[in-house]
Amino acid sequence: MSFADLGLIPELLKAVADAGYTEPTPIQRQAIPTVIAGHDVMGGAQTGTGKTAGFTLPLLHRIARHANTSTSPARHATRALILAPTRELAMQVYESVKTYSKHLPLRSICVYGGVDIKPQQAELRRGIEVVIATPGRLLDHVEQKSINLSQVEVLVLDEADRMLDMGFIPDIKRILALLPANRQSLLFSATFSDEIKKLADQMLKNPQLIEVARRNMVSETITHRVHPVSSGMKRNLLAHLLRHQPDTQALVFVDTKLACGRLAHFLERHGISADAIHGDKGQQQRTETLEAFKSGKLRVLVATDVAARGIDIDELPYVINFELPHTAEDYVAPIGRTGRAGHQGNAVSLVCAEESTASPRSRS
Ligand code: AMP
Repeated sequence: MSFADLGLIPELLKAVADAGYTEPTPIQRQAIPTVIAGHDVMGGAQTGTGKTAGFTLPLLHRIARHANTSTSPARHATRALILAPTRELAMQVYESVKTYSKHLPLRSICVYGGVDIKPQQAELRRGIEVVIATPGRLLDHVEQKSINLSQVEVLVLDEADRMLDMGFIPDIKRILALLPANRQSLLFSATFSDEIKKLADQMLKNPQLIEVARRNMVSETITHRVHPVSSGMKRNLLAHLLRHQPDTQALVFVDTKLACGRLAHFLERHGISADAIHGDKGQQQRTETLEAFKSGKLRVLVATDVAARGIDIDELPYVINFELPHTAEDYVAPIGRTGRAGHQGNAVSLVCAEESTASPRSRS
């Protein structure tokens, strides 16, 4: 199957060819015709699946009829709004929009907080068809009347689960209230918690569900094992398991930042090279630790699952839950990092008696 088979207009096909893509990815194969047909979409996909082109291309296709070279701001009403949780993600989407719209006279902008608002305002007032924004800064522009959302035809909420984690849901709801009711809406999220489903109910009309190889689907190539062990013996059992598989690397999940550092020290003292990664470590330090792990210099990475979110490691054979996660989703999400792409993986959980009755604790 080619991009032309998906029904995209020639200007977009040309941009895709310029980008060097020959074949659509699975999410693109599903999302592009669905969005072109005008449906709302609930998409389960993570970065790396081609998700961005999956919504950007058909979005541009839908609004291409508004493309024009007039200098009048009135001829450049905002037709598409893409919300992303962070400046980096917003910029990535913006780069895609620019890449794919290069043969169409459509204007686009990326607006995010933490920088001077004035240049953004000046640009927005010229009229811009595609606005990519972080939620807070978009609302600043709404308040300052530098943007009018009354003609938005397509809304995209990217990485909705991260929006939720970052506390953006009230902002999103305020933005939804400013958009025309008869718009098309697309929501993308790596996970579907109850809260995301609630948001989807409010935001989407008869959505088509599109899912591709979600990482929080437990892969069939993973062997699952649970070791019952008293809490005091867990560290020793872990060291024992690692010693018995001297050539494997392991990602170990623990509940707290404190436990993270302590366990890494314990393993080091027992001759197993290990380091910890958690939210209190600086970005630079986290990057270095991660690089050491990826390059194989470091054998064991101990992490809180929040810090480990987004860790992308291929062919990781061993994922160990030092504590049993409290929800099924927490269980499968980290395990999804092993056994990908047909590789064999092992998932091990160390469970003590207290944990089968303990009340849920939140992870830090
Ligand atoms: P994304 O999941 O949207 O972050 O995209 C991941 C990477 O895949 C990006 O670097 C894209 O440029 C690239 N990509 C997207 N679609 C295709 C495709 N059909 N063929 C090859 N690469 C692609």
